[in-house]
Amino acid sequence: MKALDELTFDNRFARLGDAFSTHVLPEPLDEPRLVVASNAAMALLDLDPAVAETPVFAELFGGHKLWAEAEPRAMVYSGHQFGGYTPQLGDGRGLLLGEVYNQAGEHWDLHLKGAGMTPYSRMGDGRAVLRSSIREFLASEALHALGIPSSRALCVIGSSTPVWREKQERGAMVLRLAPSHVRFGHFEYFYYTKKPEQQAELAEHVLNLHYPECREQPEPYLAMFREIVERNAEMIAKWQAYGFCHGVMNTDNMSILGITFDFGPFAFLDDFDAHFICNHSDHEGRYSFSNQVPIGQWNLSALAQALTPFISVDALKEALGLYLPFYQAHYLDLMRRRLGLTTAEDDDQKLVEGLLKLMQNSGVDYTLFFRRLGDESAELAVTRLRDDFVDLAGFDAWAQLYKDRVARDGDYSEEQRRERMHAANPLYILRNYLAQNAIAAAEAGDYSEVRRLHEVLSKPFEEQAGMEQYAQRPPDWGKHLEISCSS
Ligand code: AMP
Ligand code: MG
Repeated sequence: MKALDELTFDNRFARLGDAFSTHVLPEPLDEPRLVVASNAAMALLDLDPAVAETPVFAELFGGHKLWAEAEPRAMVYSGHQFGGYTPQLGDGRGLLLGEVYNQAGEHWDLHLKGAGMTPYSRMGDGRAVLRSSIREFLASEALHALGIPSSRALCVIGSSTPVWREKQERGAMVLRLAPSHVRFGHFEYFYYTKKPEQQAELAEHVLNLHYPECREQPEPYLAMFREIVERNAEMIAKWQAYGFCHGVMNTDNMSILGITFDFGPFAFLDDFDAHFICNHSDHEGRYSFSNQVPIGQWNLSALAQALTPFISVDALKEALGLYLPFYQAHYLDLMRRRLGLTTAEDDDQKLVEGLLKLMQNSGVDYTLFFRRLGDESAELAVTRLRDDFVDLAGFDAWAQLYKDRVARDGDYSEEQRRERMHAANPLYILRNYLAQNAIAAAEAGDYSEVRRLHEVLSKPFEEQAGMEQYAQRPPDWGKHLEISCSS
């Protein structure tokens, strides 16, 4: 276990120089205080969890202090936002503080979001509010616990600094961890500004540090692109299987590592709704729940365009063609597990689609349905779940197909079935209304609810005593919350 001053830095991105990022110091928050910290994320840095409670922790991650070895930099990138190209974006309110190595030899970017103005702030104030910082913290740690690749969050630091959004709020910072903060938009920036040398340097950097195994391939850049395609297909398959809606899949929010990145007005589905739009500024539903699948491919095409100086168009097209088959294979595999199936049959896709259609028509809770399906034998479970459906004849027909399919799948005890299904079907997810309750308490100065919710979500598959209230459908007020896009 390390103390805070024992972290080992090696700032590889900073060394790429001023064409890639600009040195900027964090702007401190007034009266910084710990809102919540993740012990699991602390462990990634070998940090003793107890240090989170020390005053110096809030000073470091509230922008007051800095390690001598840190080199805070604002990165430049661009990206396609809602389908249109924005020539320059960049870290407008976040800073890459530096890269830290842990004892296992992994390196982690320390990125402080809400750290003040940078040359890329455009019209913004460089700040993040408490509400959105808590949402990012809870979501990154909850996704990770579900097995969905995501950036991580070390802590949220609150403050008394006033920040103006629709109303006056308080500034906060979230310390984000990821093996890399390079986005699709980084490659787009150097491609569209016609800086081939820097673009090649960036490609080498990503290849060497994050895809070293691709070096061995006859065409390393192509191998790397293929890997990026596959990782993104897998990530999005997991979003779809667990009902996560990102909300702002612009190419500047897509990680080169295929991890969930940059949380805004995201939501987990309560009732299953393929057409759900969690971002209220997304009037056309470009980033609706079901559109995440084709948008994933669209974003990869935008990245492919930026890689045309390194890879032939034909090879890029062929690699892009792998996206849907990869996606479908991962998705179906996860949905089979959610249904408690251990074997594969050709008609499984239809079985899944049939169920989702019925859930859509009846507004069935997406998380609780699967959890309850695993509570007992298929026979008993479908009898109990039947009441949740409006189209009873439709559900009965599906239930018969399901029971027959389960019977063909294998001979196992109810106990085995429950154990296997509960390991694939979470009981607790980050429902918007739960986040909202925790935020309301935190805004009033009580951080206990954020901490409790974080704790519950860190073990989403395990039933936890006394935590029944976190495994409920939303109350009426919490069903269609409008989450502000300003953050
Ligand atoms: P986002 O929608 O959060 O992914 O942000 C898009 C771009 O706007 C990024 O370049 C951000 O750094 C920048 N940005 C968002 N909010 C602010 C803010 N309050 N101040 C400065 N820049 C911001
Ligand atoms: Mg962003």
